Amino acid sequence: MSARPLDGKTALVTGASRGIGRAIAERLARDGATVALGYARDHAAATAVLDRIHSRGGRAFPVHAPLGTHGDATRLWAAYDLARAGHLDDGGVDILVNNAGIGRSAALADLTEQDFDEVFAVNVRAPFFLVQQALPRLRDGGRVINVSSGAARIAMPEIIAYAATKGALDTFTLNLAKELGPRGITANSVHPGIVDTDVNAAWLRDDPAARARAASLAALGRVAEPDDIADVVAFLASHDARWVTGRIIDATGGSGL
Ligand code: NAD
Repeated sequence: MSARPLDGKTALVTGASRGIGRAIAERLARDGATVALGYARDHAAATAVLDRIHSRGGRAFPVHAPLGTHGDATRLWAAYDLARAGHLDDGGVDILVNNAGIGRSAALADLTEQDFDEVFAVNVRAPFFLVQQALPRLRDGGRVINVSSGAARIAMPEIIAYAATKGALDTFTLNLAKELGPRGITANSVHPGIVDTDVNAAWLRDDPAARARAASLAALGRVAEPDDIADVVAFLASHDARWVTGRIIDATGGSGL
């Protein structure tokens, strides 16, 4: 097999059991990385991703680690170290993709403090401490890629708390880039627009009118597939993106232009 862009690299992708995270994990594995598949609950789905990667000659292993409670980052890296036995010689990581995220569709007037805490715990606190705890194991020249959202840039008050988490994630990215730059580690955020994943299935898949409205928001005139985002992440993970850091990479298909 000819050399692949990520041969010899190790990646952790959170939320890799479905949707965008799954597509990212499969793409990074195709590019040659050994991929740790972070997942919260759905063991069968994580196994299906694993099988698919293996069937294509890729390398991966599952890491069961729910996020969103205190100590989650410590537990994830402990689970990683247990799971990597037999797959990797050491605990080093080249590429950390903070993809796991949850939404809260509630207007300002209706949002509860509990909703607020939950969405910030998964979308902001978990990536923050996952990176912090990874500092000794992130290899020089590595990558941190945060899956944020176009909602951080385009006002959508119906998801105001979710949007605020992604704004916080982007600010975290910016500061990480400065902090980690001397080690050659880049940090970037990716902004998907509306992507056809399970989280949108209820309103997107069975309602052609809703789908057409969603498609019309993007200049490119369609709803994104997970691969549209995974390919951008793969670029950021690659050597070709070594001089890009502290940036938000818009992958909304030109929404809100
Ligand atoms: P999804 O719901 O299909 O997948 C989310 C993944 O995160 C799942 O694998 C899930 O298990 C994991 N996850 C959720 N809560 C978790 C927890 N507490 N602990 C560990 N893992 C957890 O969503 P998706 O559409 O694939 O979204 C992936 C990322 O992309 C999210 O950060 C989301 O905010 C972002 N995003 C999605 C869209 C979209 O339209 N789908 C748009 C912009 C941004």
